[in-house]
Amino acid sequence: MTLFFRSHSRPGTLVTSTVIGMTTSASVPARPEAAITQGTVTDRLVEANKRYAAAFSDPGMDARPVLHVAVVACMDARLDLHAALGLELGDCHTIRNAGGVVTDDVIRSLTISQRKLGTRSVVLIHHTGCGLEAITEDFRNELEMAVGQRPAWAVEAFRDVDQDVRQSMQRVRTSPFLVHTDDVRGFVFDVKTGLLREIDPA
Ligand SMILES: [Zn+2]
Repeated sequence: MTLFFRSHSRPGTLVTSTVIGMTTSASVPARPEAAITQGTVTDRLVEANKRYAAAFSDPGMDARPVLHVAVVACMDARLDLHAALGLELGDCHTIRNAGGVVTDDVIRSLTISQRKLGTRSVVLIHHTGCGLEAITEDFRNELEMAVGQRPAWAVEAFRDVDQDVRQSMQRVRTSPFLVHTDDVRGFVFDVKTGLLREIDPA
């Protein structure tokens, strides 16, 4: 059985504890209502949504982001974009993937964001301790050995986070599909301090 709960010692952090035929020693969650003792994590999310919807009232928003900004960021669980950037519901587009890499699909989203939904600024956010610094393009070979097929996509692993932010900015600025490439800024989010560090595009 797997229990999902909010840890006492690391509030706000989702941890997984595997318990077989016994109770966990850390079974007292910071928020008792956050604990589930049966079902999957998805069941838990669906339950949370019922509470969310019960308190929800239609804000009557347009789909166009209020701040006319799109944020491209790593999917890392420690990066709470809205909290870290002071964003409210409806303020921005958030486009996330492993690494916050500007892939063709990110360009697709940015193109729709700019041309159909009115955004004009792009903010790129990588972070310290990213998983993409810990692997290499050899991951594709590992996959081929494991499953008999090499993925068509690049891993987009990197060694220097600052350089990868610069490359990301360059990919956005040089995309022929985007109409707003003047206000493109890149940052590294420090997962220990919560601070953004801006990267000089030069
Ligand atoms: Zn990351």
